[in-house]
Amino acid sequence: MDIQTIGIVGAGQMGNGIAHVMALAGYDVLLTDVSAEALKAAVETITGNLDRQVGRGKVAEADRDAALARITTTQTLSDLGQSDLVIEAATERETVKQAIFEDLIPHLKPTTILTSNTSSISITRLASRTDRPEKFMGFHFMNPVPVMQLVELIRGIATDKETFAACQAVVAKLGKTAASAEDFPAFIVNRILMPMINEAVYTLYEGVGSVESIDSSLKLGANHPMGPLELADFIGLDTCLAIMNVLHDGLADTKYRPCPLLTKYVEAGWLGRKTQRGFYDYRGDVPVPTR
Ligand code: NAD
Repeated sequence: MDIQTIGIVGAGQMGNGIAHVMALAGYDVLLTDVSAEALKAAVETITGNLDRQVGRGKVAEADRDAALARITTTQTLSDLGQSDLVIEAATERETVKQAIFEDLIPHLKPTTILTSNTSSISITRLASRTDRPEKFMGFHFMNPVPVMQLVELIRGIATDKETFAACQAVVAKLGKTAASAEDFPAFIVNRILMPMINEAVYTLYEGVGSVESIDSSLKLGANHPMGPLELADFIGLDTCLAIMNVLHDGLADTKYRPCPLLTKYVEAGWLGRKTQRGFYDYRGDVPVPTR
């Protein structure tokens, strides 16, 4: 199937990154959001990030201009009707995503492939409520999208081979690498990464190490570019807790029990970098461990 026009629903941190890489790869992009401010901020972010790539010599000025010209923003969801591929990247709430698909489907071509960038919601369940479960799958980018090489492609139980192959071809055209995952809680990356982060929080909770010793152990001892607690702050502690809950509920194994200390930080509103406090305090010039 020939994919030329990509519809993106949700212009937040993931949606704007997806629009950026798609436009740079030559796709026409239709970007929608319920919020006019989000659309405006997305275009500003994409422009700023492309300018930075031009400054570093990674993107030619003409390619930046062409990419920006390929992005159209709209607050009207039905404008995405002519898309060949839709990537939903709206807020991580199942009712929100379901309502988007219900409103969008009557406007789509029968051939349009429908996908979700969800980090944790069942692809099979989302697909079952659409008119095209065989043309539905997970298209899971990593954050920040322009920088991260991997895209997880997740098959629902009904996803057909042609749909999967078409999405693989899009990932290849982006110059990124696809990992194929079956539809089980948290897919591959978060299934492995989140229990490691949760274990790091247990290690802190039990007093085995301090924030600094845990992070430097994994950086220097396992060659990780960031320590697990630093990484948790970057992802957002609320997101980490939500994914642990999906693993715990979905796999019903006590090994996925979220650490009580992680819950406590989230209850305090210490969510990491986005609230300036998590395992580190970011309010000063240098991050200071909070334990
Ligand atoms: P975000 O909060 O930055 O952006 C979500 C956007 O969706 C907002 O601009 C909001 O206005 C918009 N939105 C909400 N309801 C909408 C609707 N009905 N129609 C159109 N737009 C609507 O969130 P994000 O971090 O970009 O996450 C988006 C999706 O990507 C989620 O499913 C999330 O799980 C997934 N994801 C996030 C990350 C990450 O690290 N943040 C990584 C991979 C995947």
